[in-house]
Amino acid sequence: MTKKIKIMLDAGHYGKYNPGVVPGYYESDMTWTLHNFLKEELESYGFEVGVTREDKEKDLEVFSRGRMAEGYDLFISLHSNAVGHENTKRVVAIYPVSGNGKDIAEKLGNAVLETMALSSDKYNYLELYKKPFSVARPDTDWYGVIRGAVSVGVVGLIIEHSFHTNREACRFLMEADNLRLLAKAEAKVLADHYGYTAKAEDKTEDTALKEGDTVVVRAGAVWANGKPVPSFVYADRWKIKSLTPGRAVIDKNESGNNSINSAIDPLYLVLWKKDETPEAEAKELNAGDTVMLLPDAVVYGSNKRFADFVYRTPLYIRAIGADGTRAVISTLPFGAITGAVDVKYLRSL
Ligand SMILES: [Zn+2]
Repeated sequence: MTKKIKIMLDAGHYGKYNPGVVPGYYESDMTWTLHNFLKEELESYGFEVGVTREDKEKDLEVFSRGRMAEGYDLFISLHSNAVGHENTKRVVAIYPVSGNGKDIAEKLGNAVLETMALSSDKYNYLELYKKPFSVARPDTDWYGVIRGAVSVGVVGLIIEHSFHTNREACRFLMEADNLRLLAKAEAKVLADHYGYTAKAEDKTEDTALKEGDTVVVRAGAVWANGKPVPSFVYADRWKIKSLTPGRAVIDKNESGNNSINSAIDPLYLVLWKKDETPEAEAKELNAGDTVMLLPDAVVYGSNKRFADFVYRTPLYIRAIGADGTRAVISTLPFGAITGAVDVKYLRSL
């Protein structure tokens, strides 16, 4: 790909706006978190991503937000919807009256519908439409954000992530892990649409060996001196004693009752278990704890670093995922979320 595709994301609403049927839900909180997640996911594919507002607490009127799409390839405004009828829970995707972007709107809407996977009934479907300003102005868009984007020559879309007046949808949208799933699904749609292939995730970070790691030896391996590796070595797990390019020395077995002190090409070794840092094991972390990021911390599920200041400031753990590895962190004890990180990168304060 020669040119980077640029996407402008708009978090619908600011501050504490549009409460949901479940106490604690605000559309403005949901869309703020979702747009940050979507930004991360899109950037991990290689997109360039802008946001209409840097500050969650500051509003900007809709037309101006749309106009911020100038120079971008696509504008997406993220919302959840509201209506008096609690059963209503369809996903809504709105595209410009020109008809441009209808295909992307439909794909995004379907991805949201599938990801939310709300209970199947006549209220669960995708509504895809465009809305002209008036009968007299059929070529002008009704919605300000779309009108603003179109005024700078960019397709503007509105995606309503179901209705926060529906209990099931509202509950779904209150879970950060679910918003991460939505962000991943929506980013995948856009990546496929614009021809971004596999995610540019660097797996070497996770699998690279280091001293102290426990490894198993691949079948058919030979020692550095060319001699075949005996069968008892394959049957056990070994600690890497030293590691230099092209040469690892494995010595003690995992249970510590055998020592072989043998040199081998690291290509023959497969990571069994990472050497854990003592900090990570020292204390179980919980939501509400204050922590610092370790210097090598990266954004959860990526190899991207946080902004520099995040490494220098105490952070609040706002939530820890069900599997105990993913922590949602924030510079504040409430409100805006800074991001997600594997708990192994956190040091308790
Ligand atoms: Zn909205």
